[in-house]
Amino acid sequence: MGAADYGPVIASSIIVSEQWDQLGSLLAAARIASDAGIGGTTAAGSNTAPISSSSSGLDSFSWRLESSGFFSVASIAKALARDKDNAWQPATIGLLSEMWKVFIPPKIQFFAWRLFIARLPVKDLLLSRGVDLTSSDPMCVLCGSQPESLAHLFFFCNVSKTMWSRKFLWVGIASVISLEVFMDFGILQTKVKSLKDRRRLNIIWIATSWSLWCMRNAIIFEQGQYSFDVVYYNVMFYSWSWLATKSMFSPSSSFFDWYMAPLDYFSDV
Ligand SMILES: [Zn+2]
Repeated sequence: MGAADYGPVIASSIIVSEQWDQLGSLLAAARIASDAGIGGTTAAGSNTAPISSSSSGLDSFSWRLESSGFFSVASIAKALARDKDNAWQPATIGLLSEMWKVFIPPKIQFFAWRLFIARLPVKDLLLSRGVDLTSSDPMCVLCGSQPESLAHLFFFCNVSKTMWSRKFLWVGIASVISLEVFMDFGILQTKVKSLKDRRRLNIIWIATSWSLWCMRNAIIFEQGQYSFDVVYYNVMFYSWSWLATKSMFSPSSSFFDWYMAPLDYFSDV
């Protein structure tokens, strides 16, 4: 399956280039914020100002939640904090509250946010919104045996479950929690008492989800093939790099240390 098979789906809903990524994020955020009723909005995209033309004749957007007019994840977090009681169920608010604390880049926060509020553009969501997928395969590209839904793609697909299982073995906490707890971000917060361990596990959890999502997109839009090794090592690399950015780790710290024992590393975090 290639990008050409998606045609209008790419054009209207999914990120296909760096420029489109920025515009798509802005529009998606506007849609989500609108869905959440933030700021009393009622129509999709109402947190963006109407399209206007510059002197150069190019269209532009303005993000109303920021005085600068530029989109930012921080502005969404502030808006959600202001209106959260009206926007989400308590369980979702709890998940988002924990997610904002995780040491990850804004782009990844935005991904995690969309995952937790079930707004990632998986195929069943696109179909429910009337997007025509007739020219493409509505099945999960990881296993090919079930329709792609958010729950299936990330948690019930045999391919994804195998990855979660291997990551669970990697972190080495089978004596403390079960695989099912490890896979459930919400329950994970209640079962792991150590804040230090929880921070690392939360990063690994989001890195696992992000790596699966990237692989899914590579298969669909870049005609890639599933690679267990790519996802497996990406989880380690992403989680290490995100945590290292926030840590005062010693010069001797290395990716190899993280690879060998993720919960014994970054002792000062
Ligand atoms: Zn699947």
